Amino acid sequence: SNDYRVVLFGAGGVGKSSLVLRFIKGTFRESYVPTIEDTYRQIVTCDKNVCTLQITDTTGSHQFPAMQRLSITRGDAFILVYSVTTRQSIEELTPIYQQVSGRYVIVASLVIAFYFYYRLSATRVAVPEQTRIELSPITTFPHQIREIKRDLQHVPIFLVGNKCDEEEKKIHSKEGSDLAQLWGCGFIETSAKTSYNVHELFQKLL
Ligand code: GDP
Ligand code: MG
Repeated sequence: SNDYRVVLFGAGGVGKSSLVLRFIKGTFRESYVPTIEDTYRQIVTCDKNVCTLQITDTTGSHQFPAMQRLSITRGDAFILVYSVTTRQSIEELTPIYQQVSGRYVIVASLVIAFYFYYRLSATRVAVPEQTRIELSPITTFPHQIREIKRDLQHVPIFLVGNKCDEEEKKIHSKEGSDLAQLWGCGFIETSAKTSYNVHELFQKLL
């Protein structure tokens, strides 16, 4: 059918609700209203077809694992949001992949730990060719999602660096795009505040 379910994940306060509100209503609020779970419907056109976009805005924390699991099972496309202003918010995205495929928890943790270790300790040191080859087969996380969702050829996933209007950036674009490349998913920087790249995000996802 022409019905797409998009699910947003990410730490509390990164701007998930703001991105959805900006996209659906074209508004922005400065105050922070914590979300439990909201679903919005939006009629959109893509490739001259009319389709319904059902957007699920999650609480973002890991308080409700059952809800999170259900959202993953039901979702057709996923938006993983972090804020460019806090390092913790990008690190908190990793468990969502682990949630999708429990069997890979240990492998995934090791890969991510390795990745950040390399970024921290070997920024100027060339990564040996051998290491790169060993890492690549197990770092393509979307394959794991596809394994769970066998009926789908492609599960569109976007890593989103929100609040890029902020002066004080803790996460550079390069770091976000590197992680997206590691995970084999799309990457875009947005601002729900200025509306920068918000429509582009949903357009690209479709
Ligand atoms: P959520 O918990 O991920 O749903 O985050 P919210 O959408 O509720 O936003 C949390 C706070 O960040 C609010 O005070 C928003 O006004 C603010 N915020 C959200 N998006 C942006 C943005 O793009 N730029 C800036 N500067 N602030 C933002
Ligand atoms: Mg919210």
